Amino acid sequence: MIQFDPNLIKLEYKIDLIIKKDLFNKKQIKCCPICGSTNYIKYGSYKEIQRFKCKSKSCGKTFSLTTNSIWSYSKKSSKKWIEFMELMMEKRSLRYCAEKLKISLGTAFYWRHKILNGFMKEVNPSELCDNVHIGKGAVKENFKGKRNITTSKREDIWIIAARGNKDSILVTPICKKVWNFRSFQEKIYSKIYKNSYITAYGDRYLQAIAKKHNNGMKKKKGKVDNCIKYFRSNLNIWMSCFHGIGTKYLKKYLSWFILFYLEKKIDYMDITYELLKENNFLTTKKIRDIKENM
Ligand SMILES: [Zn+2]
Repeated sequence: MIQFDPNLIKLEYKIDLIIKKDLFNKKQIKCCPICGSTNYIKYGSYKEIQRFKCKSKSCGKTFSLTTNSIWSYSKKSSKKWIEFMELMMEKRSLRYCAEKLKISLGTAFYWRHKILNGFMKEVNPSELCDNVHIGKGAVKENFKGKRNITTSKREDIWIIAARGNKDSILVTPICKKVWNFRSFQEKIYSKIYKNSYITAYGDRYLQAIAKKHNNGMKKKKGKVDNCIKYFRSNLNIWMSCFHGIGTKYLKKYLSWFILFYLEKKIDYMDITYELLKENNFLTTKKIRDIKENM
């Protein structure tokens, strides 16, 4: 007897399983995500996704390719995660995402922060070498998500963008109101190689640092880095689409800006694969802490 399925629910389920399998099977396991031991064995599979068993005596836990991934324990369909990624790339509001995908506003919030956290780990280069270009931008302080606001005065938050020979850019807030060399030293300068040649754009503090650093070095011929040169205005244009980003979330949002700003062409599928490759899981408790401080 033929069973009918006019809404193609079975097909939808099957497609979802296939997507999930494809997404997760790209992940490479390097060690047990629970104890870090590299001594583990294959241990069957669940819904066609490989499982493993840790052979460390003190651990012995089983885990799979989905353990500690960005969407671990999510009961929503993998199609929805990908759709959410596209809406996020389009910079849609959380409310819009929630309505469109029929998820709760809370879920949309969790997902956005999980993704932003993944971006943070992915995009920021850990070192700057060869010709290093540095520029500065500034945004007004924003108290969104903050309790106990004691002042209405909004100071400038200074943001530095720097690029060496890597195909990514380091963008990070460094100080508030006044120039802070120590913070610059720690967050940017410590990552610049000694034999690098620094080109600074448009800021006298940065110019002075570049001059001192390049002392005695022959000027290396290189192209002007327009991304860094026009960083300030481009950042402001990008940020203007959001209705204010809380300063406490600024660093995370800047990681998103980097993806947008790179010359590389990337889409929601590339990003979904990329984020699932690593252990990008963020516990709901951690996100709840962010939320409770809102
Ligand atoms: Zn283990």
